[in-house]
Amino acid sequence: MSRVLFCFITFLRYKLEDESKKLVKVGRFFASSQTCSVCGYKNAKTKNLALREWDCPQCGTHHDRD
Ligand SMILES: [Zn+2]
Repeated sequence: MSRVLFCFITFLRYKLEDESKKLVKVGRFFASSQTCSVCGYKNAKTKNLALREWDCPQCGTHHDRD
């Protein structure tokens, strides 16, 4: 019984580490895509994080997928 439990915990740890790595990758992707290349404004208040087109509220530049 304890060996089964150990395997289960090991599996959970692997899954959690895998998920956290994915989150870090996603975070980096959005951080780079939501920063204005003209004035350096960081668009942190985006409603839809999957949105790749946005207008910079500081300088008004329209950004689309690059
Ligand atoms: Zn800007």
